[in-house]
Amino acid sequence: MPAAKPMSREQGAPSTNGAPGSGVAQAPGSIIACIDVHKAYHTGERDVQALRGVDFTIERPGFYGIMGASGSGKSTLLHLLAALDTPDRGTVIVAGRDLSRMSDRELTLFRRKQLGIVFQQFNLIPTLTAAENVELPGMLAGDDARKLRERSMELLTHLGLADRRDHKPDALSGGEQQRVAIARALLYRPKVVLADEPTGNLDSVNSRRLWALLGEISRTEQVTIVMVTHEPTAAVNCERVLVMLDGQVRGHIDTEGLDAGGLAARYQQFVAAS
Ligand code: ADP
Ligand code: MG
Repeated sequence: MPAAKPMSREQGAPSTNGAPGSGVAQAPGSIIACIDVHKAYHTGERDVQALRGVDFTIERPGFYGIMGASGSGKSTLLHLLAALDTPDRGTVIVAGRDLSRMSDRELTLFRRKQLGIVFQQFNLIPTLTAAENVELPGMLAGDDARKLRERSMELLTHLGLADRRDHKPDALSGGEQQRVAIARALLYRPKVVLADEPTGNLDSVNSRRLWALLGEISRTEQVTIVMVTHEPTAAVNCERVLVMLDGQVRGHIDTEGLDAGGLAARYQQFVAAS
């Protein structure tokens, strides 16, 4: 098969942003937008430029992937989207809000109510049951216990865990623990859920189940899910995959009609073009 023509950045760009910074006017209407985002780490002698001008927008709810090799800056980008860190330069918009314009207090509330975050580690409290782990953010915020229980039961049922609600994490499989973590992330019906390699600790059967579930949740809960991964087998479950290379989003791949091998081949075109 002849190699397809590599996509240029413009053809592959997931947004109509042109030159860095030019998307400012339209970005406030976006669910997520990054405009010329830079981030460096300073460790000892060395400076690591983790993000070198990230530009992309997400305009519609759905299940999105960010795919790139290890070290390409995926986790750094996700941390900025989660307002866990701030960029050196550039604009980060999440759930329609410019994070740099929010006070610490606003950011705390924003993280709790509008954002769900899922990591490779499940981060469950071992002494609490599945239901209590889901409800914990609400308990800490002093919300109504009965309402929290209703919502946790709804979510655990939706995620196939109704009969596991009184189990503590060590009595749950890895796949079940990660589903509890996802239920916790969905507690307040966030607009955006960010997931960093969420199947990194799961076997292939549980991984496949989780990807299908994330796609379904993005539709039923009308939430935008952004999943970071280095694996085409994971990313192919997303509707659209942003390609991350050397601290930049180089474009996107719509996965309709692609299998993992097809996605990997398209990704390689971006690598070859860089
Ligand atoms: P990915 O998630 O795609 O593997 P990261 O965002 O974790 O990439 O890392 C991007 C680059 O930044 C890498 O070169 C990594 O070594 C560096 N880096 C990440 N976090 C830190 C940190 N806390 N201190 C110093 N360098 C870091
Ligand atoms: Mg990472």
